[in-house]
Amino acid sequence: MNPEKSDLHIHSDMSDGRMSVEEIISHASQLRLDTIAITDHFGPCYGCIKANPSTIERRGQFIRDVALQYPRVRVLDGAELDINTDGSMVEVAEDVTPFELVIGSIHQMTNSSLWVSLLGKVTKKYHFDILGHWDGYLTTYRESDGEMAAEILADAGIVVELSSRYPPKDYHFLIAARDAGCKFSLGSDAHWISAIGQLESQLQLAEALELPLAEF
Ligand SMILES: [Zn+2]
Ligand SMILES: [Zn+2]
Repeated sequence: MNPEKSDLHIHSDMSDGRMSVEEIISHASQLRLDTIAITDHFGPCYGCIKANPSTIERRGQFIRDVALQYPRVRVLDGAELDINTDGSMVEVAEDVTPFELVIGSIHQMTNSSLWVSLLGKVTKKYHFDILGHWDGYLTTYRESDGEMAAEILADAGIVVELSSRYPPKDYHFLIAARDAGCKFSLGSDAHWISAIGQLESQLQLAEALELPLAEF
C-alpha cells in the first residue's frame, strides 16, 4: 500500500454518509487512490448500523462484492466506533474482529484531562487501530495531557488520524505522538462524495512535521 494515496475514514449511506458503497469505491478508483476504508458507525446511536453478526457480515460481503469491480483500489471493511464517556467502547458482536480496520472516536466534548483519562481506560480493555479526529471534540489542550496521551497510544500501537474534516488545531500533540513512536493515518471523514480523498493539506502536514504514515 502507498499510505500517501489512502483515505481510511469514509462513511457510506449504510450509516450517516450520503453516498453508496458503489459511489465511494468508483470515485476512489477515479481518484486513483491506493487504499480506502469504509468506516460506518455501528451501535445504538442515531444513524448507526445496528450491530449484530448478520448485519456486519452482510455489509462486509456487500463491500467485498462491489470492490471486485474496481480492482485498482483496495477497500477495507471498517468501522468507526464510539469511545464512551465512561471509557468503554461500543461493543460490536462480542468483539470487533469482523472488521479489517477499526477507528475509535470520542464524539462528546471533553477537556484534555478527561480525554487522556478516557484514552487510558479504553486502551486497557479494547483494541482499535486508529484514534479518529483526535482533537475534534477537545475543548482544551494541556501539553502534559497530550504527552501522556501520546505515550498511551504508542504503547497500545494505536495510529493517530490526520483528519481533513477536523484539521488538527494544535501541533504539540502530533509532535509528542511522533516522538513517542506513534504512526499516523490520513482520513477525510467523508460523508459526501466531494470530500473523499481531499487530504492534500494533511499530507503536507505529515511531511512538514515528519509524521510517519502507517501501512494497513
Ligand atoms: Zn467521528
Ligand atoms: Zn467519521
